[in-house]
Amino acid sequence: MRIVAGIVAGAWLLASSSAAAADARIDAWIADALPGLVASYESLHANPELSLEEKKTAESVARALEDAGYEVQTGIGGHGVVGVLENGEGPSLMIRGDMDALPVTEATGLAYASRVTSRRPDGSEVGVMHACGHDVHVTALVGTARLLAGLRDAWRGTLVILAQPAEELGKGARMMIEDGLFSRIPAPDHAIALHVDAGLAAGQVGWIPGWAAANVDSVDIEIHGRGGHGARPHQTVDPIVTAAHLVTALQTITSRRVNPADPAVVTVGSFHAGAKHNVIPDSAHLQLTVRSYSDEVRDLLLASIRQLAEDTCRAFQCPQPPDVRVKDEYTPAMYNDPALAEKAAGLFRELLGEDAVIEMVPAMGGEDFGRYHRAQGMPAFMFRLGSIAPARIEAARKGGEPLPSLHSSRYAPDPEPTLRTGIGTLSRLALSLLGTP
Ligand code: ZN
Ligand code: ZN
Repeated sequence: MRIVAGIVAGAWLLASSSAAAADARIDAWIADALPGLVASYESLHANPELSLEEKKTAESVARALEDAGYEVQTGIGGHGVVGVLENGEGPSLMIRGDMDALPVTEATGLAYASRVTSRRPDGSEVGVMHACGHDVHVTALVGTARLLAGLRDAWRGTLVILAQPAEELGKGARMMIEDGLFSRIPAPDHAIALHVDAGLAAGQVGWIPGWAAANVDSVDIEIHGRGGHGARPHQTVDPIVTAAHLVTALQTITSRRVNPADPAVVTVGSFHAGAKHNVIPDSAHLQLTVRSYSDEVRDLLLASIRQLAEDTCRAFQCPQPPDVRVKDEYTPAMYNDPALAEKAAGLFRELLGEDAVIEMVPAMGGEDFGRYHRAQGMPAFMFRLGSIAPARIEAARKGGEPLPSLHSSRYAPDPEPTLRTGIGTLSRLALSLLGTP
């Protein structure tokens, strides 16, 4: 017994001392590389590219991965880039970052603020900004890729670094998968990613076990009435009154049909009908966003919307049934593998301290990282990376300027501590999922 215990303790000592040595090397690498990483972050921030236009960003990622010794493939599903580093027998891990920016005119006042502009479809000009922090994601991804390549004597297995386009459209992951992503790379045993958080301090991370982002569906409903004079409503079928009843009826789906324990949202975000006081129009148009976690609740929501729309139109004697169109490019929900999430949170607590690791409540936002797990079935985990200077959070708490949210023209991450924490957490989590030599 004692001998076995001795062997076990010896192996543990060896493992923990090599882990400590790897930790020290990670810290040293980050300290050394950080000024350069901050500079490349600022350059990315100043040169954002909209969804589907991430050409230069993709080129810079590909170049950095090639320089670090990765086998690189470009142009997957648009501007998608994948780098593969095979490093002996062992598990395979995919780390994903997204690259696209948003049509937002930056108002941070930073020296490296974006001055890039783009034309809207109507010809008007709008700024382009990394208002969702994907510039942090790209920098952390490339930094982690370079760090782990430099540390390849400390792990075994295969590392897949994936830079994804068009996340903001909810379609980049699908485009890469449909372009044969998983036939071009070794099958990953795990997939991990991070996303900046606009409410957490730089140096902190947030995590959620289980459902962490929602199924996001967009639904259009066209209600057909029969227009006429506003003073002679008895000779018309008023689509506005019909649509107004439908908007109210739709509220009963989440309140009366869905199990209260299952999160769900049905929001009518747009209601368009008519043009003049005394004209009853021919039609009314509604646009909905519909959110859920499970496939069952999603099916129930979409079927209920269709049924209520058809039956409301029938009740109000519309001359024809409504057109109910569900956009088929929906973003599926993201599920954080609970065991993987727990493991990561434990690791982060050791690394950053108990107070810096926050268990967050699930929200109904969308994130297409969930598609990889859905396509391939590997456990996946995305965590939130704090990005705000602590002094700014303190000021907001004391009634000062409220913190801007993601997608705000004033969202400004604190680059150095954010990148230090992002690369430190990503690379430690990666090492814990790869094999040991
Ligand atoms: Zn976003
Ligand atoms: Zn984002």
